[in-house]
Amino acid sequence: MAEYQYRCPVCGPWSARLPMGTAEAARECPGCGRSSARRYTAPALNRMPATQARLRLREEASRDAPEVVTAVPPAVRRRPVVSDPRRATLPRP
Ligand SMILES: [Zn+2]
Repeated sequence: MAEYQYRCPVCGPWSARLPMGTAEAARECPGCGRSSARRYTAPALNRMPATQARLRLREEASRDAPEVVTAVPPAVRRRPVVSDPRRATLPRP
């Protein structure tokens, strides 16, 4: 099923869900019954957030052309562990 857009001269735009390829150039408006011309619009494509799209492209590219690493990546800096004096009283394994 696909959603097709029509424009009624009285009621304005409306849409109909029809099997693909069965949309006529004009259909009867469900509101007033007048002939409504079909509007040609872009297909309803889903767009994902830019960050997600960038990561997806990078992941797909790594399948065919992975990035070559020539050095060991730097260590991740960890936050210093704040010692809690109550930890000293906990039983040791
Ligand atoms: Zn109408």
